[in-house]
Amino acid sequence: MKSMQSSELSTTLETLGKQLRERTANFLGYPVSKDFDYSELLPFLQYPLNNLGDPFVDSTYAVDTRDAEKEVVQFFAELFRAPADNWWGYVTNGGSEGNLYGLYLARELYPNAMVYYSEATHYSVHKNLHLLHMPSIVIRAQENGEIDYEDLRNTIQLNRDKPVIILANIGTTMTEARDDVRRIRQILKDMAVKNHYIHADGALSGTYSAFIDPRPAFDFADGVDSIAVSGHKFVGSPMPCGVVVAKKSNRDRIARSVAYIGSMDTTITGSRNGHSPLFLWYAISKHGIEGLKARAMHSLETAAYAEQRLRELGLDAWRNPNAITVVFPEPPEPIRQKWQLASEQGFSHIICMPNVTRAQIDEVVAEIAAVMETEAG
Ligand SMILES: *Cc1c(COP(=O)(O)O)cnc(C)c1O
Repeated sequence: MKSMQSSELSTTLETLGKQLRERTANFLGYPVSKDFDYSELLPFLQYPLNNLGDPFVDSTYAVDTRDAEKEVVQFFAELFRAPADNWWGYVTNGGSEGNLYGLYLARELYPNAMVYYSEATHYSVHKNLHLLHMPSIVIRAQENGEIDYEDLRNTIQLNRDKPVIILANIGTTMTEARDDVRRIRQILKDMAVKNHYIHADGALSGTYSAFIDPRPAFDFADGVDSIAVSGHKFVGSPMPCGVVVAKKSNRDRIARSVAYIGSMDTTITGSRNGHSPLFLWYAISKHGIEGLKARAMHSLETAAYAEQRLRELGLDAWRNPNAITVVFPEPPEPIRQKWQLASEQGFSHIICMPNVTRAQIDEVVAEIAAVMETEAG
């Protein structure tokens, strides 16, 4: 690639900027928040931040944001009711890495275990299990996307000789269904399964499930051993990121000191993004618990509104209890393309992230209504 004139560079960047501005404006189909303003953090782009190694162990590489990262992990550990003296975690590159980490810990704990997860599980989990070379069984999902507890019980029964690892969904990708962790724990108890590990994939809903009343059964107090969330989804961030929280005692089993970095090699990657922990810390500090809760309530209200408006059109729109994802029969291609609506097996969904407004819902509903009128002739 030849070096560009600065005028040419700025034209190219202007074009890209315009394109992204337009594409961000109409965006209802994927669970990422867009209502953030991190401009105060621009000066920090001048530093080669790198949180090499374990956030809780100092490294010789000191151009880092470990303090911010530790506060972020602590925030989520408390939000997820982790045992006060037995939590650990780090800021990941996203929910997928957090799931990989949870499953990795589980495998180190129970190398001969069988992994169970529902068919509504995110596609990355299958790949993670392949990478980790862990045997697994897919459990049926109910119509709403929640795991089929009877199928889970019967399948575990057939493999009772093996330790049980369960990946529970706290908000599935298509319908935002939550697997009930207490019910899963009860099944394990009924069957006297002694060795078990539950990892919660809370990529989208994990962050705000703690604000919902009644509180869904999804966290450490309910019986999970680790939880992964995405940071760029509900909180919102210009770069993908996430947080994984696990029990410190489990992390200690895999800790191995690496002399070169002068820290502990307890994370998946070596170099780690030092900016994303700062961004998450900034967002959490600015919103506070109350602000985050208000965002969740706004999303839930918008989702209820969208569900009602779509139903008024005569469409079979629905959502899971306290979910911000509204599922409905897929609209025609031009509408799906304009609003970037994913679709699967004839259904699309609108995900009412905190930035989504009633005006946007009105607009997409009007477009669907117009198509329906044309079709009705
Ligand atoms: C988005 C998502 C993931 C993957 O998270 P990334 O942050 O994109 O890596 C995993 N599981 C569920 C349910 C998701 O919605």
